[in-house]
Amino acid sequence: MSNIAPANKNIICSSMGKVKKGEIQIIFGPMFSGKTTELVRRLKRYQIANYNVLVIKYSKDTRYDDNDIATHDRQTLPAVSTEKLYDLKSKAQQFEVIGIDEGQFFPDVVKFCNEMANAGKTVIVAALDGTFQKQGFGNTLELVPLAEHIIKLSAVCMMCYNEAYFTKRKSNETAVEVIGGADKYLAVCRSCHESSPVKQSPQKRSPFKERSNTPQINTLSIKTDTTRKLFDSSQHKENSTFRKNFCFESCNA
Ligand SMILES: [Zn+2]
Repeated sequence: MSNIAPANKNIICSSMGKVKKGEIQIIFGPMFSGKTTELVRRLKRYQIANYNVLVIKYSKDTRYDDNDIATHDRQTLPAVSTEKLYDLKSKAQQFEVIGIDEGQFFPDVVKFCNEMANAGKTVIVAALDGTFQKQGFGNTLELVPLAEHIIKLSAVCMMCYNEAYFTKRKSNETAVEVIGGADKYLAVCRSCHESSPVKQSPQKRSPFKERSNTPQINTLSIKTDTTRKLFDSSQHKENSTFRKNFCFESCNA
């Protein structure tokens, strides 16, 4: 942390003449907890208030359009893709609010967020806090002592329908690399995380399955046929192929 730049003095917003302090907001949660939806909701609030908002997404995540994140009401936010946040540093400096989706994927997320906040920007990060083994994911937990606001969202446990704060691998596969979709992973509560893996598809257990004739309304126009990936933090630092370790179907999380 020694190379983290000190905070600037209060930044004066040229348009309003008001004082704007930078800050970091973190949206944690397991798979299927709506992190991206919450990220977009917050960013839209700033956009409506005429702040310049930038969305940064992971370049291997193709759930969105190439250039934008779009909501169901066809409002869009400018979005850029990258594998390293620092590649976008000069661009990010042109915005007042920066949203980062899938923050756990970026190895430089801690330093980048802190520098941007110190420069007076509001940085909102959506990220998985833990792997399916309940280990800290990447270095996102290092953001905690640097952040002003932190929330951990919950999903619905796909085994018992209590609140779910963890992600669980359904199978007993022990291979380092396990590529799969929602058929391999669940959002689960504490007790269900410790129980034996289930073989049944969560969709088949869903109480909403009976309503399948009614199309689900997504709040975001996010592609649902793409895969999303969850990393094992231990692989993050050791293996460039770690991104293949855990792979999820898109869940609008
Ligand atoms: Zn449960």
